[in-house]
Amino acid sequence: MAMRATLSAFATAARAALDLLLPPQCLTCDAPVDVPGRFCPDCFRRASFVTEPCCSRCGVPFAHAGEGGRERLCPACRGNPPPWGRARAALRYDAQSRLVLLPFKYHDRTEYAAALAPLMARAGAVLLHEAEVIVPVPLHRRRLIARRYNQAALLAQALAGLSGKPVVPDALYRTRPTVPLAEMGAAARAETVAGAFALRPGRLGRIAERHVLLVDDVLTSGATCGACTRVLLAAGAAGVDVLVAARVPDPRLQ
Ligand SMILES: [Zn+2]
Ligand SMILES: [Zn+2]
Repeated sequence: MAMRATLSAFATAARAALDLLLPPQCLTCDAPVDVPGRFCPDCFRRASFVTEPCCSRCGVPFAHAGEGGRERLCPACRGNPPPWGRARAALRYDAQSRLVLLPFKYHDRTEYAAALAPLMARAGAVLLHEAEVIVPVPLHRRRLIARRYNQAALLAQALAGLSGKPVVPDALYRTRPTVPLAEMGAAARAETVAGAFALRPGRLGRIAERHVLLVDDVLTSGATCGACTRVLLAAGAAGVDVLVAARVPDPRLQ
């Protein structure tokens, strides 16, 4: 554990030293860029940003403007609306965005938070503007110790820095570890995360009667963000919106 942390700290320091010597590189390829933490023009073109038209509730991208009717709701939100008010994502979760998201989540590329946050702030400008407090989806304590950082908390902190809004990184916690949701269908995901989150009692005063912006890296079925939203609303939050770096384009196809 200590050895791994030491090696990783060394790797980070070595990378920082290299970054000083070499011109900054594109986030997802070797092309030089003017400013660190940016895409080169080719990768920027390849990135699939989620833009309007999209479902007003869950943010799933629509193929054309008329889709979703006057309320701009996807069939899933019409039939079984999520507990949050609005969800927005910067990018589609695809091969290109995974080049940023996987190293960010699993391989210590914590500096990617500073690159993703401005894209999220743009996609969720209205949500961020109306938010009174920013709260990240938590990791379980055991996973946090193993990974040493919570990627959602890094995004929440970066968004707080951009917007000047307060962040409460430890408002929520996981009551028990959950198995990875990756291979599960929507119903199994919802069952797995039910009751897995709770509000830290000392943070009630920061949440009650506030409009909360819940932040995570990836939105898939919405089970995790849904479970966190229910906890925040039960704690008296005035409302909850969700902002993520990337979302699976259509969770109904999962
Ligand atoms: Zn590139
Ligand atoms: Zn929807």
